Amino acid sequence: ADRNPNQPEFLQAVREVLTSIWPYVQQHPEYLNAGILERLVEPERLIQFRVSWVDDQGKVQVNRAFRIQHNSAIGPFKGGMRFHPSVNQSVLKFLAFEQTFKNALTTLPMGGGKGGSDFDPKGKSEGEVMRFCQALMLELYRHLGADTDVPAGDIGVGAREVGYMTGMMKKLTNSAECVFTGKGLSFGGSLIRPEATGYGVLYFVEAMLKAKGETLEGKTIAVSGSGNVAQYAIEKAMEMGGKVVTASDSSGTVYDPEGFTPEKLAKLMEIKNERRGRVADYAHELGLEYVTAATPWQFPVEVALPCATQNELNEEHARQLIANGVRFVAEGANMPSTAEAIVLFHEAKVLFAPGKAANAGGVATSGLEMSQNALRLSWSREEVDQRLKEIMYSIHATAEKYGRDGDHINYELGANVAGFVKVAEAMKAQGVY
Ligand code: NDP
Repeated sequence: ADRNPNQPEFLQAVREVLTSIWPYVQQHPEYLNAGILERLVEPERLIQFRVSWVDDQGKVQVNRAFRIQHNSAIGPFKGGMRFHPSVNQSVLKFLAFEQTFKNALTTLPMGGGKGGSDFDPKGKSEGEVMRFCQALMLELYRHLGADTDVPAGDIGVGAREVGYMTGMMKKLTNSAECVFTGKGLSFGGSLIRPEATGYGVLYFVEAMLKAKGETLEGKTIAVSGSGNVAQYAIEKAMEMGGKVVTASDSSGTVYDPEGFTPEKLAKLMEIKNERRGRVADYAHELGLEYVTAATPWQFPVEVALPCATQNELNEEHARQLIANGVRFVAEGANMPSTAEAIVLFHEAKVLFAPGKAANAGGVATSGLEMSQNALRLSWSREEVDQRLKEIMYSIHATAEKYGRDGDHINYELGANVAGFVKVAEAMKAQGVY
């Protein structure tokens, strides 16, 4: 903590992982002798830079941007870019640290990284967003490369922003190598990448349920968020026969006891993606119950899928969910549950899948996009979806193997140990540097 003052999110993520893997590491002193833990919590490189751009009123704006190149033991740094006013070193370092374990779990050769800026895309014009993305790339381009560092999207960075950044990268480097994933289909993007994180969460949930001899058919589900991950989680949950009764954004939650239908989801997508509107607009247009400044965790559900942001599900929320009979929690977002909430889930024997396992489908499909670009081929929807599903099932199997505890499965322990072993072995083999 002394080395990372004022970085609560980073310390929270590190504490969570180290606490859970500690008994395992004690039984494997070779990792301690190689200084793996000390090296794993220190990013290989951290880049911070100024982004200056001119807004529509002709006024100069200055933002702060970062790229955290956390760990490249098993492959090039890989992880998304986040544009949100809350972005700072602590948030990005926690995300890059988590990403390192998550990428290891995918079985694909990708190291961990993350980046972003405190730029707020909300309320900005198309031209402003483009100029900001271009200004950011004027510095970031020199740190990227298909075998060095390959960013993607995250909160506030979707296909539009990835397109602008990829375009500027190409201009500056005179090269069309793959240095962003999540690209548009016409310039190297992969089918299923937009859907991948949300679909992946549901494939993981399907595997969790299967381990209990159950399916999603007829189960009631709470989803938080209404962005990329939430939208496709809702879509796949419906396809599997589940009833999704909530969605949210940072202003409030919509509660729909009848559940989403494909028509309702299409409306939500139109409002969020095309009109860049709010969940409140969706609730009002459909005449549904809307609760201001609330999370979805007070409603009775069997499955909870937090898909918005970090620390959105705290101890009190966990208590409410458990009292209302929740049995499965799978994180679509990164670190949405606080440490105290996770303890309560374990105590109540709720099956809990941490983000680094449950939401790894996004980066896994980014890995598949890199493979397709390297091969100069595009795989069909079915082929990518099938590979995504296989990867999510294999992550589930690995997390189950390391996390099995009698009748119960501790996926948190399983994912942390499995991710750690993969990265630690690679670091050990490559020597101390
Ligand atoms: P989007 O920007 O598409 O959507 C984010 C959603 O979360 C929006 O509904 C947003 O509402 C809400 N949100 C953001 N900040 C807050 C906050 N402080 N409080 C409450 N709600 C908030 O992002 P994604 O769907 O891509 O990402 C969501 C989560 O999933 C993040 O944790 C991300 O790191 C993680 N993730 C994403 C992957 C991907 O492939 N996209 C891959 C793996 C993980 P509002 O509009 O009000 O801000």
